[in-house]
Amino acid sequence: MRNTRLGVRLTAFVLCMMTVLTVFSPALAAEIYCYGTVNADNTPVYSNQNATAVLGVFNKNDLVAIESQISASGLYIVRLGPSTASTGYIRMSAVPDNTRIFQLTSGAALAQLKSSAGAVVDTGSLAEGTAGTIVNVKKNVNFRSGPSNKSARVKGQKSVPKGASVSIIGEESGFYKLVYKGKTGYVDTRYVAAGGTVPSTPETTPPGIGQGTDTGRITIGTGKIAVEAYKSKPVPAVETSLNSAKAANKNTIGYMYLNGTNIQQPILYNVKGIDYSKYNFYNKKSAEGAVYSLYGKDMTRNNVITGHNMRKSNGMLHQLHHIQEKTLGYTKCQMTEATCAISLDNAPDIKVQSNRVWDISLFGYNKWEVWAMYETAAKESKNTINYNINHLAKYSPSQIKTWIEYQKNRSEYKFNTAVSTDDIFLTLYTCGNNYDSSSAQSRLYFFLKAVS
Ligand SMILES: [Zn+2]
Repeated sequence: MRNTRLGVRLTAFVLCMMTVLTVFSPALAAEIYCYGTVNADNTPVYSNQNATAVLGVFNKNDLVAIESQISASGLYIVRLGPSTASTGYIRMSAVPDNTRIFQLTSGAALAQLKSSAGAVVDTGSLAEGTAGTIVNVKKNVNFRSGPSNKSARVKGQKSVPKGASVSIIGEESGFYKLVYKGKTGYVDTRYVAAGGTVPSTPETTPPGIGQGTDTGRITIGTGKIAVEAYKSKPVPAVETSLNSAKAANKNTIGYMYLNGTNIQQPILYNVKGIDYSKYNFYNKKSAEGAVYSLYGKDMTRNNVITGHNMRKSNGMLHQLHHIQEKTLGYTKCQMTEATCAISLDNAPDIKVQSNRVWDISLFGYNKWEVWAMYETAAKESKNTINYNINHLAKYSPSQIKTWIEYQKNRSEYKFNTAVSTDDIFLTLYTCGNNYDSSSAQSRLYFFLKAVS
């Protein structure tokens, strides 16, 4: 059921946007948006796309005006009122019904906006989609007739210059469909800053596993993360989240939710053409990538899960560092290349046994306990890196014993978790905080074993 609803929701939004953009004459200036109906009371509206700081709440059946969507975060950008350009963020799942189109009454404030259910109009105007700017190019970017690098360039407007303002009217296969100088075409999303969000700079060298380069994707919001919000975030039933993730992406094999952090991620496996170090959960090209299993969709003796350390945006698996730091006695994020400055008050101290049993649903196991943790410096030997992510399938019990002892000896904290050669293991890792580049070989590792 979830599968169907999600599909309908995404399609409905696209249709709504298309209707708004194509049906209405650009002559009128009234503001028209896709509207949605909120499906539950106390649905938070966030001030940033990390969904951490709450601006306020919408209640069931309130209307929200949807400006655009950030599919990677599962959020809609919504208007907080027609007389203001202020926007907030709301979970897409909270607005399943968003096919209606309304015209905003001028001067209406948030409260009126929420109660303007009767104000349906089906004529009006919206000439543009979301505003965007061409970025991340030296001079020009190709303007293509289709969402592919193989598509021909647009007749009469083969490229769009850096800094040009464009109107984004859709998104397909890693490309924005946009309007520039009256012509419609496609530009790779990496070269368009949409709705005030600057995309990550394209990587010049392909990263190795877990070696994303975070160039500061998030520009909306204050940049300070209110960790406080996580305090009240309920731990979802792992199975429920796994099932909905599977319904949304059939490459899903697991789900992880690390209490006290913002890590709440489906776990995927790579298929032909989709390397999740470069594609997000929605199969869109993305510097953030997704969390994924190195050994595909099957269980191995040591399962290996990784994702990028998005240091500036505090995203993906960055907060694994917070767990490490909290456990080692720090009170703030220790990232040195950019200011994270996040308080670690709410991060779990995994010296406490209950804090190191994590909700990771993978191959039939739902709880995994950490038994070793350490970060390597730059230029760690490739041998270690390969050793740590070995699936151990070809190892004898004595070799597995040696592997366990090696990890325990390197652990930055001596956990008293009992580990045996019969255990099913999980290596969870991301890039190091201070040596993160495509050439550095620094990693932060957590070694876990399945407990139930
Ligand atoms: Zn941090």
